[in-house]
Amino acid sequence: MKKSILIAEDEKPIAESLSFCLEKEGFKTYQAYDGQAALSKYKEINPNLILLDLMLPKLGGQEVCKIIRRRSSTPIIMLTAKDSELDKVVGLEIGADDYITKPFSMRELIARINAVLRRAADNKKEQTVKTGDFTLSEDKHQIKFKGKILDLPLKEFNILKTFILNKERVLPRNELIEIVWGEDFYGDEKTLDVHIRRLRKKIEPDSENLKYIKTVRGIGYRLSVKGNES
Ligand code: CA
Repeated sequence: MKKSILIAEDEKPIAESLSFCLEKEGFKTYQAYDGQAALSKYKEINPNLILLDLMLPKLGGQEVCKIIRRRSSTPIIMLTAKDSELDKVVGLEIGADDYITKPFSMRELIARINAVLRRAADNKKEQTVKTGDFTLSEDKHQIKFKGKILDLPLKEFNILKTFILNKERVLPRNELIEIVWGEDFYGDEKTLDVHIRRLRKKIEPDSENLKYIKTVRGIGYRLSVKGNES
């Protein structure tokens, strides 16, 4: 099966020529010309890789990258216009797998694409994420806490999995709800808190002094994977 690549680039001539060259290399390509279109296209086609321009209208490449990273590890290569250190740091900090500075040669881009796809395939074989006191085994649908398997119903599993994949990042309530319950969730927002409370009972040693699942007032929650105080 052909690997699919989503090209999110607002300059249509660039998007067109990338598409043309990548199709010639045997990839199936899709195009999006702004950040919002990139997100909906991503949800629709679930591509094998995303080429993401940093400067996009409606929703910037940085935001798009962060949102996608919260729900999946789909490889992302950022396309940046300026060759500044700042861009490089930003590109990788927001969870991109690689970045390439315009102008670039197609040969270089294809080499990067193949390298990132290869790495993604290796990671998939492992399917285990170990971070701090948590070990997530996606294939076994299992999460271990300090070496012990946690007994988790589906929603609790999905919430904790989302925390683990996002490590120390703060997860806004609405995003957690969207990831775990889907976009068309019209239920009570308190449902999330109920699940968080049950999870805390399973992992927090002291309910008065929460070390792992932290409440970030007015925003949402954050997992401290090592149970740090701060
Ligand atoms: Ca642009």
